[in-house]
Amino acid sequence: MRCYICDKDADQVDSQRDADLVDCHSCGSYGISRSALSVLHANAYVFNIARTLDWLRQERKAGQARPMIHSQSGLWD
Ligand SMILES: [Zn+2]
Repeated sequence: MRCYICDKDADQVDSQRDADLVDCHSCGSYGISRSALSVLHANAYVFNIARTLDWLRQERKAGQARPMIHSQSGLWD
């Protein structure tokens, strides 16, 4: 699959009912909720990569090994 954030090669670890779990070589491990995916697709939003990577770093520092991106996370432009 393509990473939702950076569009490079990534592994889909799991596809759950309410979220996709992704391991990206560039972005690391994260999850993205179904509602976030539909907001992205419906509006053709793209991730602000710098802001997203920064957010992921902060979440991991706070102990979240796989940060979950929600539709309200505001990481896209
Ligand atoms: Zn990525």
